[in-house]
Amino acid sequence: MALTCRQAVPARRRVTILGSTGSIGCNTLDLLERRPEAYSVEALTANRNVALLAEQARRVKPRTAVIADPQKYASLKEYLDGSGLTAAAGAQALVEAARQPADWVMAAIVGAAGLAPTLAAIQRGAVIALANKECLISAGPVMTAEIKKHGATLLPVDSEHNAIFQVFDFDRVDAIDRIVLTASGGPFLRHDKAAIAKATPEQAVAHPNWKMGAKISVDSATLMNKGLEVIEAAHLFPIPHERIEVVVHPQSVVHSLVGYIDGSLLAQLGPLDMRVPIAYTLGWPDRMHAPTQRIDLADIGQLTFETPDTDRFPALSIARQALRTGAGAPTIMSAANEVAVDAFLAGRTGFLDIVRVVEGALDKVPHLPLDNLEDVADLDAQARATANEIIEQT
Ligand code: NAD
Ligand code: MG
Repeated sequence: MALTCRQAVPARRRVTILGSTGSIGCNTLDLLERRPEAYSVEALTANRNVALLAEQARRVKPRTAVIADPQKYASLKEYLDGSGLTAAAGAQALVEAARQPADWVMAAIVGAAGLAPTLAAIQRGAVIALANKECLISAGPVMTAEIKKHGATLLPVDSEHNAIFQVFDFDRVDAIDRIVLTASGGPFLRHDKAAIAKATPEQAVAHPNWKMGAKISVDSATLMNKGLEVIEAAHLFPIPHERIEVVVHPQSVVHSLVGYIDGSLLAQLGPLDMRVPIAYTLGWPDRMHAPTQRIDLADIGQLTFETPDTDRFPALSIARQALRTGAGAPTIMSAANEVAVDAFLAGRTGFLDIVRVVEGALDKVPHLPLDNLEDVADLDAQARATANEIIEQT
Protein backbone atom coordinates (compact mmCIF):
# COMPACT_ATOMS: atom_id res chain seq x y z
CA MET A 1 0.00 0.00 0.00
CA ALA A 2 1.43 3.34 -1.01
CA LEU A 3 0.95 5.89 1.72
CA THR A 4 0.98 8.85 -0.58
CA CYS A 5 -1.31 10.50 -3.03
CA ARG A 6 -0.50 13.44 -5.24
CA GLN A 7 -2.14 16.39 -3.51
CA ALA A 8 -2.23 19.86 -5.01
CA VAL A 9 0.47 22.03 -3.45
CA PRO A 10 -0.27 25.74 -2.84
CA ALA A 11 2.22 28.35 -4.07
CA ARG A 12 3.09 29.42 -0.53
CA ARG A 13 2.92 26.53 1.91
CA ARG A 14 1.81 27.02 5.49
CA VAL A 15 3.75 24.68 7.72
CA THR A 16 3.57 23.45 11.29
CA ILE A 17 6.53 21.94 13.12
CA LEU A 18 5.72 19.55 15.96
CA GLY A 19 8.95 19.40 17.97
CA SER A 20 10.57 22.55 16.54
CA THR A 21 13.30 22.77 19.22
CA GLY A 22 14.78 19.34 18.50
CA SER A 23 17.46 18.33 16.06
CA ILE A 24 14.99 17.67 13.19
CA GLY A 25 12.87 20.71 14.13
CA CYS A 26 15.86 23.10 14.03
CA ASN A 27 17.05 21.69 10.69
CA THR A 28 13.54 22.17 9.28
CA LEU A 29 13.45 25.78 10.43
CA ASP A 30 16.89 26.37 8.95
CA LEU A 31 15.54 25.42 5.51
CA LEU A 32 12.27 27.32 5.88
CA GLU A 33 13.86 30.54 6.97
CA ARG A 34 15.92 30.66 3.77
CA ARG A 35 12.72 30.70 1.67
CA PRO A 36 10.27 33.11 3.35
CA GLU A 37 8.52 33.68 0.01
CA ALA A 38 7.70 29.95 -0.24
CA TYR A 39 6.78 29.07 3.35
CA SER A 40 4.95 30.61 6.28
CA VAL A 41 4.61 29.07 9.72
CA GLU A 42 1.30 28.13 11.31
CA ALA A 43 2.41 26.57 14.62
CA LEU A 44 5.56 25.58 16.50
CA THR A 45 5.62 23.21 19.47
CA ALA A 46 8.18 22.09 22.05
CA ASN A 47 8.30 20.10 25.26
CA ARG A 48 10.14 22.25 27.86
CA ASN A 49 12.66 24.48 26.10
CA VAL A 50 10.72 27.73 26.39
CA ALA A 51 13.63 30.02 25.62
CA LEU A 52 14.40 28.36 22.27
CA LEU A 53 10.72 28.01 21.33
CA ALA A 54 10.13 31.73 22.03
CA GLU A 55 13.24 32.73 20.10
CA GLN A 56 12.10 30.66 17.10
CA ALA A 57 8.57 32.08 17.36
CA ARG A 58 9.82 35.67 17.39
CA ARG A 59 11.79 34.89 14.23
CA VAL A 60 9.19 33.07 12.11
CA LYS A 61 5.97 34.43 13.68
CA PRO A 62 3.71 31.38 13.81
CA ARG A 63 0.06 31.84 14.62
CA THR A 64 0.59 29.72 17.77
CA ALA A 65 3.54 28.60 19.89
CA VAL A 66 2.78 25.62 22.14
CA ILE A 67 4.77 24.30 25.07
CA ALA A 68 3.77 20.75 26.11
CA ASP A 69 4.71 21.19 29.76
CA PRO A 70 1.83 23.21 31.33
CA GLN A 71 4.15 24.47 34.09
CA LYS A 72 6.08 26.43 31.46
CA TYR A 73 3.06 28.33 30.20
CA ALA A 74 3.64 31.49 32.30
CA SER A 75 7.25 31.55 31.23
CA LEU A 76 6.33 31.20 27.52
CA LYS A 77 3.83 34.06 27.82
CA GLU A 78 6.47 36.21 29.45
CA TYR A 79 9.01 35.45 26.71
CA LEU A 80 6.42 36.29 24.02
CA ASP A 81 5.13 39.40 25.79
CA GLY A 82 4.66 42.27 23.33
CA SER A 83 5.19 40.05 20.27
CA GLY A 84 1.49 39.69 19.46
CA LEU A 85 1.97 35.90 19.19
CA THR A 86 -0.39 33.40 20.81
CA ALA A 87 0.96 31.03 23.45
CA ALA A 88 -0.65 27.76 24.55
CA ALA A 89 0.36 24.82 26.76
CA GLY A 90 -0.43 21.19 27.51
CA ALA A 91 -1.05 17.95 25.64
CA GLN A 92 -4.44 19.05 24.27
CA ALA A 93 -2.92 22.30 22.95
CA LEU A 94 -0.42 20.19 20.98
CA VAL A 95 -3.32 18.38 19.32
CA GLU A 96 -5.06 21.70 18.62
CA ALA A 97 -1.87 23.03 17.03
CA ALA A 98 -1.79 20.00 14.71
CA ARG A 99 -5.43 20.70 13.78
CA GLN A 100 -4.63 24.24 12.64
CA PRO A 101 -4.84 24.52 8.85
CA ALA A 102 -1.21 23.99 7.80
CA ASP A 103 -0.64 22.40 4.37
CA TRP A 104 2.45 20.56 5.58
CA VAL A 105 3.24 19.25 9.06
CA MET A 106 6.65 18.13 10.29
CA ALA A 107 6.10 15.38 12.91
CA ALA A 108 9.38 15.64 14.83
CA ILE A 109 8.39 15.01 18.44
CA VAL A 110 10.40 12.11 19.88
CA GLY A 111 8.57 9.02 21.16
CA ALA A 112 4.95 8.02 21.62
CA ALA A 113 4.18 11.57 22.84
CA GLY A 114 4.04 12.49 19.16
CA LEU A 115 1.23 10.09 18.33
CA ALA A 116 -1.86 12.16 19.27
CA PRO A 117 -0.80 15.38 17.46
CA THR A 118 0.42 13.44 14.41
CA LEU A 119 -2.92 11.64 14.21
CA ALA A 120 -4.75 14.96 14.50
CA ALA A 121 -2.85 16.19 11.43
CA ILE A 122 -3.58 12.91 9.61
CA GLN A 123 -7.28 13.21 10.40
CA ARG A 124 -7.57 16.48 8.54
CA GLY A 125 -5.84 14.99 5.49
CA ALA A 126 -2.62 17.02 5.72
CA VAL A 127 0.73 16.29 4.09
CA ILE A 128 2.86 14.96 6.94
CA ALA A 129 6.63 14.73 6.91
CA LEU A 130 7.19 11.92 9.37
CA ALA A 131 10.38 11.95 11.43
CA ASN A 132 8.80 10.46 14.56
CA LYS A 133 9.23 6.76 13.86
CA GLU A 134 8.06 5.64 17.33
CA CYS A 135 4.43 6.60 16.65
CA LEU A 136 4.34 4.47 13.48
CA ILE A 137 5.93 1.52 15.28
CA SER A 138 3.59 1.86 18.24
CA ALA A 139 0.34 2.41 16.36
CA GLY A 140 1.14 1.26 12.81
CA PRO A 141 -2.15 -0.44 11.85
CA VAL A 142 -4.27 2.32 13.45
CA MET A 143 -2.22 5.08 11.84
CA THR A 144 -2.17 3.56 8.35
CA ALA A 145 -5.95 2.99 8.49
CA GLU A 146 -6.46 6.67 9.42
CA ILE A 147 -4.14 7.82 6.62
CA LYS A 148 -6.22 5.91 4.07
CA LYS A 149 -9.52 7.01 5.54
CA HIS A 150 -8.65 10.73 5.54
CA GLY A 151 -6.56 10.84 2.35
CA ALA A 152 -3.50 12.13 4.21
CA THR A 153 -0.04 11.98 2.66
CA LEU A 154 2.91 10.61 4.61
CA LEU A 155 6.41 11.56 3.47
CA PRO A 156 9.24 9.73 5.27
CA VAL A 157 11.97 11.94 6.78
CA ASP A 158 14.09 9.18 8.32
CA SER A 159 17.10 9.20 5.98
CA GLU A 160 16.83 5.50 5.05
CA HIS A 161 13.10 5.63 4.32
CA ASN A 162 13.46 8.90 2.52
CA ALA A 163 16.15 7.29 0.35
CA ILE A 164 13.87 4.32 -0.41
CA PHE A 165 10.97 6.68 -1.11
CA GLN A 166 13.11 8.45 -3.70
CA VAL A 167 13.92 5.24 -5.64
CA PHE A 168 10.84 3.07 -4.96
CA ASP A 169 8.64 2.77 -8.05
CA PHE A 170 5.15 2.80 -6.49
CA ASP A 171 3.67 2.24 -9.98
CA ARG A 172 5.64 -0.99 -10.49
CA VAL A 173 5.56 -2.62 -7.08
CA ASP A 174 5.60 -6.09 -8.72
CA ALA A 175 9.04 -5.26 -10.14
CA ILE A 176 10.52 -4.72 -6.67
CA ASP A 177 11.97 -7.70 -4.85
CA ARG A 178 13.71 -6.20 -1.83
CA ILE A 179 14.62 -3.18 0.22
CA VAL A 180 18.08 -2.80 1.74
CA LEU A 181 18.34 -0.51 4.76
CA THR A 182 21.83 0.71 5.56
CA ALA A 183 23.02 1.07 9.17
CA SER A 184 26.07 2.98 10.34
CA GLY A 185 26.62 0.41 13.09
CA GLY A 186 26.75 3.15 15.75
CA PRO A 187 29.59 4.08 18.11
CA PHE A 188 30.18 0.50 19.32
CA LEU A 189 30.51 -1.17 15.91
CA ARG A 190 34.11 -2.29 16.67
CA HIS A 191 33.66 -2.84 20.44
CA ASP A 192 33.67 -6.32 21.93
CA LYS A 193 30.92 -7.50 24.30
CA ALA A 194 32.87 -6.55 27.45
CA ALA A 195 33.40 -2.98 26.25
CA ILE A 196 29.75 -2.65 25.17
CA ALA A 197 28.64 -3.79 28.64
CA LYS A 198 30.50 -0.84 30.19
CA ALA A 199 29.17 1.78 27.75
CA THR A 200 28.30 5.12 29.36
CA PRO A 201 25.56 7.53 28.20
CA GLU A 202 28.27 9.95 26.98
CA GLN A 203 29.80 7.24 24.76
CA ALA A 204 26.40 6.05 23.54
CA VAL A 205 25.19 9.48 22.40
CA ALA A 206 28.46 10.25 20.60
CA HIS A 207 27.30 8.96 17.21
CA PRO A 208 30.22 8.65 14.76
CA ASN A 209 28.31 10.18 11.80
CA TRP A 210 25.10 11.98 12.79
CA LYS A 211 24.34 14.65 15.39
CA MET A 212 20.87 13.76 16.67
CA GLY A 213 18.67 13.85 19.77
CA ALA A 214 19.75 11.69 22.75
CA LYS A 215 17.10 8.98 22.40
CA ILE A 216 17.74 8.12 18.74
CA SER A 217 21.50 8.25 19.39
CA VAL A 218 21.20 5.57 22.10
CA ASP A 219 18.92 3.56 19.78
CA SER A 220 21.63 3.75 17.13
CA ALA A 221 24.18 2.45 19.63
CA THR A 222 22.04 -0.61 20.53
CA LEU A 223 20.94 -1.01 16.88
CA MET A 224 17.35 -0.82 18.15
CA ASN A 225 17.08 2.15 15.80
CA LYS A 226 17.60 -0.18 12.83
CA GLY A 227 15.07 -2.61 14.31
CA LEU A 228 12.54 0.22 14.61
CA GLU A 229 13.38 1.21 11.04
CA VAL A 230 12.68 -2.30 9.69
CA ILE A 231 9.19 -2.05 11.22
CA GLU A 232 8.83 1.52 9.95
CA ALA A 233 9.71 0.32 6.42
CA ALA A 234 7.20 -2.53 6.67
CA HIS A 235 4.45 0.07 7.29
CA LEU A 236 5.63 2.57 4.69
CA PHE A 237 6.36 0.37 1.69
CA PRO A 238 4.24 -2.35 0.07
CA ILE A 239 6.72 -5.20 0.43
CA PRO A 240 6.69 -8.35 2.64
CA HIS A 241 8.82 -7.79 5.74
CA GLU A 242 11.01 -10.84 5.00
CA ARG A 243 12.31 -8.84 2.02
CA ILE A 244 13.56 -5.95 4.12
CA GLU A 245 17.30 -6.45 4.59
CA VAL A 246 19.81 -4.58 6.74
CA VAL A 247 23.45 -4.03 5.86
CA VAL A 248 26.04 -2.20 7.95
CA HIS A 249 27.64 0.64 6.00
CA PRO A 250 29.86 2.64 8.37
CA GLN A 251 30.36 5.63 6.02
CA SER A 252 26.59 6.39 5.85
CA VAL A 253 26.90 7.70 2.30
CA VAL A 254 24.44 5.25 0.72
CA HIS A 255 21.27 5.94 2.68
CA SER A 256 19.37 2.84 1.48
CA LEU A 257 18.55 0.84 -1.65
CA VAL A 258 15.70 -0.78 -3.55
CA GLY A 259 16.25 -4.05 -5.45
CA TYR A 260 14.36 -4.84 -8.66
CA ILE A 261 13.51 -8.23 -10.22
CA ASP A 262 16.13 -7.83 -12.96
CA GLY A 263 18.89 -7.60 -10.36
CA SER A 264 19.19 -3.79 -10.43
CA LEU A 265 19.79 -2.12 -7.10
CA LEU A 266 18.90 1.58 -6.99
CA ALA A 267 20.40 3.69 -4.20
CA GLN A 268 20.16 7.23 -2.92
CA LEU A 269 23.47 8.77 -1.79
CA GLY A 270 23.98 12.02 0.01
CA PRO A 271 25.95 13.96 2.59
CA LEU A 272 25.51 13.36 6.33
CA ASP A 273 22.98 16.13 6.72
CA MET A 274 19.32 15.61 7.64
CA ARG A 275 18.48 18.74 5.69
CA VAL A 276 18.68 16.57 2.53
CA PRO A 277 15.71 14.30 3.39
CA ILE A 278 13.89 17.18 5.09
CA ALA A 279 14.27 19.31 1.95
CA TYR A 280 12.95 16.43 -0.14
CA THR A 281 9.74 16.38 1.91
CA LEU A 282 9.50 20.16 2.14
CA GLY A 283 9.79 20.62 -1.62
CA TRP A 284 7.82 17.49 -2.57
CA PRO A 285 6.64 16.77 -5.23
CA ASP A 286 9.27 19.20 -6.57
CA ARG A 287 12.87 19.51 -5.40
CA MET A 288 14.07 22.52 -3.45
CA HIS A 289 17.60 23.85 -3.25
CA ALA A 290 19.33 22.93 0.02
CA PRO A 291 22.57 24.48 1.30
CA THR A 292 24.11 21.05 1.86
CA GLN A 293 27.55 19.78 0.99
CA ARG A 294 27.92 18.09 -2.41
CA ILE A 295 29.65 14.76 -1.82
CA ASP A 296 32.89 14.09 -3.63
CA LEU A 297 33.02 10.33 -4.32
CA ALA A 298 36.73 10.34 -5.19
CA ASP A 299 37.40 12.07 -1.89
CA ILE A 300 35.38 9.42 -0.01
CA GLY A 301 37.31 6.73 -1.89
CA GLN A 302 35.80 3.60 -0.37
CA LEU A 303 32.33 2.51 0.58
CA THR A 304 32.14 -0.67 2.64
CA PHE A 305 29.30 -3.01 3.59
CA GLU A 306 29.06 -5.81 6.16
CA THR A 307 26.51 -8.10 7.79
CA PRO A 308 25.12 -6.84 11.13
CA ASP A 309 26.30 -8.80 14.19
CA THR A 310 23.10 -9.72 16.00
CA ASP A 311 25.09 -11.50 18.72
CA ARG A 312 26.63 -8.24 19.96
CA PHE A 313 23.55 -6.23 18.93
CA PRO A 314 20.49 -8.42 19.70
CA ALA A 315 18.01 -5.51 19.45
CA LEU A 316 17.79 -6.00 15.69
CA SER A 317 16.63 -9.63 16.10
CA ILE A 318 14.19 -8.65 18.86
CA ALA A 319 12.59 -6.06 16.58
CA ARG A 320 12.33 -8.52 13.70
CA GLN A 321 10.68 -11.03 16.02
CA ALA A 322 8.23 -8.33 17.24
CA LEU A 323 7.37 -7.59 13.61
CA ARG A 324 6.76 -11.29 12.90
CA THR A 325 4.64 -11.66 16.05
CA GLY A 326 2.60 -8.61 15.06
CA ALA A 327 -0.45 -7.61 17.15
CA GLY A 328 0.81 -5.34 19.93
CA ALA A 329 4.39 -6.67 20.10
CA PRO A 330 5.97 -3.61 18.37
CA THR A 331 3.96 -1.30 20.68
CA ILE A 332 5.30 -3.09 23.77
CA MET A 333 8.83 -3.13 22.40
CA SER A 334 8.90 0.57 21.53
CA ALA A 335 7.35 1.73 24.83
CA ALA A 336 9.68 -0.45 26.94
CA ASN A 337 12.63 0.77 24.90
CA GLU A 338 11.69 4.42 25.55
CA VAL A 339 11.56 3.77 29.29
CA ALA A 340 14.82 1.83 29.30
CA VAL A 341 16.66 4.46 27.22
CA ASP A 342 15.46 7.21 29.58
CA ALA A 343 16.67 5.17 32.57
CA PHE A 344 20.03 4.57 30.89
CA LEU A 345 20.47 8.27 30.07
CA ALA A 346 19.59 9.13 33.68
CA GLY A 347 22.25 6.68 34.96
CA ARG A 348 19.63 4.39 36.54
CA THR A 349 20.48 1.35 34.46
CA GLY A 350 23.29 -0.07 32.32
CA PHE A 351 23.61 -0.22 28.53
CA LEU A 352 22.91 -3.96 28.23
CA ASP A 353 19.87 -3.54 30.49
CA ILE A 354 18.09 -1.68 27.68
CA VAL A 355 17.68 -4.87 25.68
CA ARG A 356 17.02 -6.94 28.83
CA VAL A 357 14.17 -4.59 29.83
CA VAL A 358 12.66 -4.71 26.33
CA GLU A 359 12.83 -8.53 26.27
CA GLY A 360 11.32 -8.70 29.77
CA ALA A 361 8.40 -6.47 28.78
CA LEU A 362 7.78 -8.47 25.59
CA ASP A 363 7.74 -11.61 27.75
CA LYS A 364 5.43 -10.33 30.48
CA VAL A 365 2.91 -8.09 28.72
CA PRO A 366 0.23 -9.94 26.68
CA HIS A 367 0.52 -9.15 22.97
CA LEU A 368 -3.05 -7.94 22.47
CA PRO A 369 -4.24 -6.87 19.02
CA LEU A 370 -4.71 -3.15 18.34
CA ASP A 371 -8.09 -2.07 17.01
CA ASN A 372 -8.06 1.56 18.04
CA LEU A 373 -6.10 4.28 19.81
CA GLU A 374 -7.32 3.27 23.26
CA ASP A 375 -5.86 -0.22 22.71
CA VAL A 376 -2.54 1.39 21.77
CA ALA A 377 -2.59 3.68 24.84
CA ASP A 378 -3.46 0.79 27.20
CA LEU A 379 -0.74 -1.48 25.86
CA ASP A 380 1.79 1.37 25.86
CA ALA A 381 0.97 2.11 29.54
CA GLN A 382 1.24 -1.58 30.52
CA ALA A 383 4.58 -1.91 28.76
CA ARG A 384 5.93 1.24 30.46
CA ALA A 385 4.80 0.06 33.91
CA THR A 386 6.36 -3.37 33.37
CA ALA A 387 9.60 -1.86 32.07
CA ASN A 388 9.81 0.38 35.14
CA GLU A 389 9.22 -2.61 37.44
CA ILE A 390 12.01 -4.56 35.76
CA ILE A 391 14.38 -1.59 36.12
CA GLU A 392 13.50 -1.12 39.80
CA GLN A 393 14.08 -4.82 40.52
CA THR A 394 17.62 -4.59 39.14
P1 NAD B 1 15.21 15.70 19.85
O1 NAD B 1 15.27 15.09 21.19
O2 NAD B 1 16.36 16.52 19.39
O3 NAD B 1 13.90 16.62 19.73
C1 NAD B 1 12.64 16.16 20.13
C2 NAD B 1 11.59 17.24 20.02
O4 NAD B 1 10.37 16.71 20.59
C3 NAD B 1 11.91 18.51 20.80
O5 NAD B 1 11.39 19.63 20.12
C4 NAD B 1 11.16 18.31 22.12
O6 NAD B 1 10.81 19.54 22.72
C5 NAD B 1 9.92 17.56 21.66
N1 NAD B 1 9.38 16.68 22.70
C6 NAD B 1 10.07 15.76 23.43
N2 NAD B 1 9.25 15.14 24.30
C7 NAD B 1 8.03 15.69 24.12
C8 NAD B 1 6.77 15.49 24.76
N3 NAD B 1 6.60 14.61 25.76
N4 NAD B 1 5.71 16.22 24.34
C9 NAD B 1 5.86 17.14 23.35
N5 NAD B 1 7.04 17.38 22.72
C10 NAD B 1 8.10 16.65 23.10
O7 NAD B 1 14.94 14.52 18.82
P2 NAD B 1 15.29 14.44 17.28
O8 NAD B 1 16.64 13.86 17.11
O9 NAD B 1 14.96 15.73 16.59
O10 NAD B 1 14.28 13.32 16.79
C11 NAD B 1 12.89 13.56 16.63
C12 NAD B 1 12.26 12.34 15.99
O11 NAD B 1 12.82 12.17 14.68
C13 NAD B 1 12.53 11.03 16.74
O12 NAD B 1 11.42 10.21 16.68
C14 NAD B 1 13.69 10.40 15.98
O13 NAD B 1 13.70 9.00 16.03
C15 NAD B 1 13.39 10.89 14.56
N6 NAD B 1 14.59 10.98 13.71
C16 NAD B 1 15.56 11.85 14.03
C17 NAD B 1 16.72 11.93 13.23
C18 NAD B 1 17.83 12.92 13.54
O14 NAD B 1 18.77 13.02 12.75
N7 NAD B 1 17.79 13.67 14.62
C19 NAD B 1 16.85 11.10 12.12
C20 NAD B 1 15.82 10.22 11.82
C21 NAD B 1 14.68 10.17 12.62
MG1 MG C 1 17.39 6.55 10.18
